[in-house]
Amino acid sequence: MRWSQTLIPTLREAPADAEIASHRLLLRAGLARRLAGGVYTFLPLGLRSLRKLERIVREEMDAARAIEVLMPALQPGELWRKGPRFEAAQAVMFRASSAGRKAEGDMFLGPTHEEVVTDLMAATVSSYRQLPRTIYQIQTKFRDEIRPRFGLMRAREFVMKDAYSFDVSESAADDSYRAMYEAYRRIFARAGLTTMIVEADTGVMGGSFSHEFSVPCEIGESEIVFTEDGSYAATIEKAVARPEPRARPTATTPAPEKFATPGVTTIEDLDRSHGVAARDQIKTLVYLCDSKPCMFLVRGDHQLSEAKVATLGFAEFRPATPEEIFAALGAHPGSLGGVGKIKPAISRVYADADIEGQEGMVTGANEDGFHFRNVSLARDIAVDEFRPLREVRDGEPSIDGKPLRVRRAIEVGHVFKLGTKYSEALGAQFLDEHGKSHPMFMGCYGIGVTRTLQAIIEQHHDADGIIWPAAVAPFHVLITLVDASLAHHAEELHDLLEAANFDTLLDDRPERPGVKFKDADLIGIPVRITIGERSWKAGGVEIKARTAKEKTLVPIAGALDAVRDLLARS
Ligand code: ATP
Ligand code: MG
Repeated sequence: MRWSQTLIPTLREAPADAEIASHRLLLRAGLARRLAGGVYTFLPLGLRSLRKLERIVREEMDAARAIEVLMPALQPGELWRKGPRFEAAQAVMFRASSAGRKAEGDMFLGPTHEEVVTDLMAATVSSYRQLPRTIYQIQTKFRDEIRPRFGLMRAREFVMKDAYSFDVSESAADDSYRAMYEAYRRIFARAGLTTMIVEADTGVMGGSFSHEFSVPCEIGESEIVFTEDGSYAATIEKAVARPEPRARPTATTPAPEKFATPGVTTIEDLDRSHGVAARDQIKTLVYLCDSKPCMFLVRGDHQLSEAKVATLGFAEFRPATPEEIFAALGAHPGSLGGVGKIKPAISRVYADADIEGQEGMVTGANEDGFHFRNVSLARDIAVDEFRPLREVRDGEPSIDGKPLRVRRAIEVGHVFKLGTKYSEALGAQFLDEHGKSHPMFMGCYGIGVTRTLQAIIEQHHDADGIIWPAAVAPFHVLITLVDASLAHHAEELHDLLEAANFDTLLDDRPERPGVKFKDADLIGIPVRITIGERSWKAGGVEIKARTAKEKTLVPIAGALDAVRDLLARS
């Protein structure tokens, strides 16, 4: 392709709202242009990379025997209402209204396709003989994100590869899950993106497992916890650290004893005034969860993780105000605890797994200025559920003793066991070999294709521009023509490379060499060939990888091999 005949509007400066490198480069390298918040036009360079990434996704999906379909973006509200999550999903769904056809009911632009695909399976598959099936598509999704930002990373219209598996049993569903998991590993590896595979919480979806493919990145909107050696990785919602042993002996039997603690309202106060180390105290927090007061207990030196609270499945929760707490327990924050009769004022008591079974702890007495000592978690507090609830901190040891790192990350892919929630709601049943009807076991799997593309840029760039991995580079080779008198040689080389299946861009613009070289660095084509007087007289052209400092002079006849060589190494 000739630069002069296509549309590559490179920019010297990125728009001010582009906060991260990949967003700036997306715009500066002329890959995409913003039309509205979170809405982008793909220009030729961006589109070529997108198509290459889609091809990798498609090849790996096909190799895993997934079946490609194309489902509509327009989806009837009637179908969504039959499904299990219309209420929750509505907040991000664009309503597609029109003046006419009122009788047909409302329509929405699909944020994802569980309802549509389950309905499709209900209508087309009825026997165990037709299972398993994994259905996939590469399609445009619409989500009215509260804060669209970072370019394609959090867009309102974006391309997703979504897949859905349907099986006769939970164990068969596990096989389908593993096949997608492995396909995802290959996809990201082929696309040149280093991802971390983190165990994720299944939250309210209630499936039994889930993994996220994440890219560590400063602007990531989630946090992941991992060990450097890759032996452990989990989302912050799921992550656990090795429980630190308490310094004090834990086996005490005396009954809880109330003692006066006038003026003590914090963990530190109690340590200072009574010498009770933070790790021997129970920190008691009260939240309103779906309007009901719930108590959360963590060790005094630990912090409650709201991310973990969010996995309990409440539609909404917030810390209770001191007034609300006083109304429920008759004491103020700083004097709260779970000993004694706290129900029904408190609806549920959740305690962090690290304090399960602990003895000889100190906690508030629900009376201002008083605490209990000798508290046994098993004996004295009616805990409804022990589960990991505390924050994991950077540097803490993992369960097997290696230092944990906590980093921001962005999720590029997600594999998820769904169970029968959708198949039951939407009637996707099959008959087993005895003629008995069962709901299909489902899994769902998503890759944000456009987000992945930008994540690749985030991972592969330098101060001058993008450094495309060859597999997803818009072109393999960029020929920069610096002396117009050699134009026909450049054309010949371009055609030769194209004939050998190298995607080649010829910069034939009447621009100064300096401008062309800057643009070349910016758009990041892996192999660059420069045709100019000096090298031509010396017998050939100059060739170099995007990342190399030095150019090599090669005779025209050797250009093809040199390109092949450099590409194999990029
Ligand atoms: P996030 O937590 O980032 O909002 P999600 O959990 O809502 O993502 P899924 O519903 O699992 O995302 O969608 C599958 C994939 O689609 C994600 O892994 C991500 O790569 C991509 N994706 C989701 N939302 C967006 C968006 N607004 N813009 C671009 N890609 C997105
Ligand atoms: Mg997700």
